[in-house]
Amino acid sequence: MSNKHVYRFGGGSADGRADQKALLGGKGANLAEMTALGIPVPPGFTITTEVCTYVSEHGGGYPDSLRDDVDAALARVGELTGARFGDADNPLLVSVRSGAPASMPGMMDTILNLGLDDRTVEGLARRTGNPRFAWDCYRRFVAMYGEVVMGVAAADEHELLPFERLLEEKRAARGVEKDSDLTADDLRDLVAAYKVEIKQATGKEFPTDAREQLWGAIAAVFRSWGNPRADVYRRMHNIPASMGTAVNVQAMVFGNMGDDCATGVAFTRNPATGDRELYGEFLTNAQGEDVVAGVRTPEPIAELGKKLPAAFRQLVEVCTRLEAHFRDMQDIEFTIQNGQLWMLQTRNGKRTGRAMVKVAVDLVREKMIDTRQAILRMEPGKLDEVLHPTIDPRTRPKALAKGLPASPGAVIGRVVFSAAQADEWAKKKEGDPVILVRTETSPEDIHGMKAAAGILTARGGMTSHAAVVARGMGKCCITGCSALRIDGVRERMTVLSDQGEVIIKKGDTITLDGSSGEVFLGAVPLVPAEMSPELGELMHWVDEVRRLRVRTNADTPADAKTARAFGAEGIGLCRTEHMFFQPERILAVRQMILAEDETGRRGALAKILPMQREDFLAIFREMDGLPVTIRLLDPPLHEFLPHSQHDIAEVARELGESVERLGHKIVSLTEANPMLGHRGCRLAITYPEIYETQAQAIAEAAVAAAAAGIAVHPEVMIPFVIVPAELRRLRDKVAAVMDRVFAAAGRAIPYSIGTMIELPRACLVADQIAPHADFFSFGTNDLTQTTLGLSRDDVANFLPTYLETDLLPGDPFVAIDRDGVGRLVEIGVTRGRQSVPGLKVGICGEHGGEPSSVAFCHETGFDYVSCSPFRVPIARVAAARAALESKK
Ligand code: PEP
Ligand code: MG
Repeated sequence: MSNKHVYRFGGGSADGRADQKALLGGKGANLAEMTALGIPVPPGFTITTEVCTYVSEHGGGYPDSLRDDVDAALARVGELTGARFGDADNPLLVSVRSGAPASMPGMMDTILNLGLDDRTVEGLARRTGNPRFAWDCYRRFVAMYGEVVMGVAAADEHELLPFERLLEEKRAARGVEKDSDLTADDLRDLVAAYKVEIKQATGKEFPTDAREQLWGAIAAVFRSWGNPRADVYRRMHNIPASMGTAVNVQAMVFGNMGDDCATGVAFTRNPATGDRELYGEFLTNAQGEDVVAGVRTPEPIAELGKKLPAAFRQLVEVCTRLEAHFRDMQDIEFTIQNGQLWMLQTRNGKRTGRAMVKVAVDLVREKMIDTRQAILRMEPGKLDEVLHPTIDPRTRPKALAKGLPASPGAVIGRVVFSAAQADEWAKKKEGDPVILVRTETSPEDIHGMKAAAGILTARGGMTSHAAVVARGMGKCCITGCSALRIDGVRERMTVLSDQGEVIIKKGDTITLDGSSGEVFLGAVPLVPAEMSPELGELMHWVDEVRRLRVRTNADTPADAKTARAFGAEGIGLCRTEHMFFQPERILAVRQMILAEDETGRRGALAKILPMQREDFLAIFREMDGLPVTIRLLDPPLHEFLPHSQHDIAEVARELGESVERLGHKIVSLTEANPMLGHRGCRLAITYPEIYETQAQAIAEAAVAAAAAGIAVHPEVMIPFVIVPAELRRLRDKVAAVMDRVFAAAGRAIPYSIGTMIELPRACLVADQIAPHADFFSFGTNDLTQTTLGLSRDDVANFLPTYLETDLLPGDPFVAIDRDGVGRLVEIGVTRGRQSVPGLKVGICGEHGGEPSSVAFCHETGFDYVSCSPFRVPIARVAAARAALESKK
């Protein structure tokens, strides 16, 4: 820890720089940078993140020199502003705000107008000649301090904070609608009432000494780093708790001093679409938290040009400078005090997936960044949003209500009215998606927002809490839908629409279109997403730099087609068993399973053969010119048999079997641990005719495809191998059948036979297996299951506890467990290639479409990854990023 704990900024110079985010937090570092650039920033200072760590390690104690450093820095702020902290005549007022190295919007605490007490409020009133303003500042300060520092809270989630309740009562008593209609005396009364409330709730007096207030606020901000909502947010965004937050103390500027004052937030481009336009909103005669809290609905930024044209021109100019300096879209906060613009924050703006792509591509076109930087700016997982469904325009019904299009995508879900319900419903297995409906959201709702598929609020603008958080999560969200009257207690809402008054109760289904802001009653048909021209251009750059090939996991011609449109370069896994479940086939499959002997099985397989041939032909057609890896039958046979008494009776009738015999057969096939039982290639070791029939279907389909002029490249994959001899024996059988078909057809179609590496032993003896395989495809789903001994099917019962209590860094079925599974994969690749140099290696477990796992595959020298169709673009971008990162 260094000795410098306090970094000053103001008066055109600053101790810190933009690249010191780890030490000064994002806000502090950029305030310093803006100051040094000569942009108007109110003076202040930043207490470093190192102090945050110190405080948590020393039971709330501070480094020795901190108090003196803060005093000196405060004195300097006083000099620059011509005021003095705690001075009764000319008091310096400050804001105290958190600012972590990673952006955590609204997760931690902020206190404004600090330095006011019963004496200084009079000084402020005299200096400004505006007692109403002074008392309004004081009222806000007491409420904020009471809540954030002293811990006054609402009774429950449906109740108002006591301060809000008192304010509402005051408005009612005075017969006014707006806070701005309350007089200085009303506000004075409120301050007194707030203090009584604080005393009652906490047993403590509201502090009157400015320094005591300041240290209380600093302690609260450091404490807020550890609050539960910040903790949830950190987990969601993989932000380490060790990072800590900085504290920014800054001279107050006021947007609430009159009609030539305003406060607002803006993005230098549209954060939802990426369009190049100043985008944001403001309120005149208001303080910053009024905009973010969504209490009053703000005006669009363009209106500022009409109301305060000089300040607006200055704002546009500052935004242009900031973009050119940071070479990215900025998200700014500003205040205009008596016509003078002050910048309170700038940071790279959070954006939707669509805007992420558009802004990066536009910045390349504008020559601000190069194509490689554009690729490195991609968060591959966010592309999901670009690839999300939208409402089918052909069936678009009339909307029930319309709010602001805060975060795009369309979603159908059941309505819930509290974060707790959202959480609870979403946890129910196979529960329908839920839509969280609130008057407005606050950081307490974060877990519910995470659990919900979509979010709808009655109040708040495009930069309200709900909008910012949902956008960050990539969730469909509509804010400011003022037609809603929400009754949280009775769990219903009334929507005032031109269709009359519609009542929607908990559990009713609605559809949201986050791209237009429209709300629809019931489930509206959706259509899948399409690639934008910018995404097409970006993908072009991506494909030039990536080394890894990207294939898809597809079992149907439709999936294959989608994946190809997304740029898949072949099929890496076609699971044949999915084809067996279709109603017209399952009977033949059951006959095969129930057959007494090989002859019976071959009879049933003969019925399956032509169906499989058609399946493969249709897939070869879609993938014309590209490789298609077909995995032979893998799951335990009992999965195909009926289980309930009712189904057993029906199947027995269909098969012409006795219920008793069928029952016995099912019992005999039931396994204690089917995932480790009679499955994978073990099925064909006992019943070779299964794989022989599938091989015949593949070869015949290939012949038919070739005859139709299709370039076909079949790759046959044998799953769940543990010893080389399994692969050798089955390979010989499969090859014999395929060679026979090709010879009979007079066509020499090249094909290959490889294996899946899904078990730890297979990794360890990969050098022995490789000589019998034309390729390896790592099945990391089973490999994760067997390496960690975590059942794929049962893990949900206990994994959440492991994640919540940090026993595991993440779900190993989502992102590859590098230390365990990853090590085995490395061994498998290395040993496989030791005996067969240049052996082709891929992955087809779910990890193949997860960005950090794709990076792992790049680093480990894989040839390709294979993932579900919608993740193909994500994997392509992740592969390109990995290639660029490894060259850094
Ligand atoms: C795997 O185990 O990773 C795999 C792709 O096979 P499945 O998920 O079908 O078991
Ligand atoms: Mg598997």
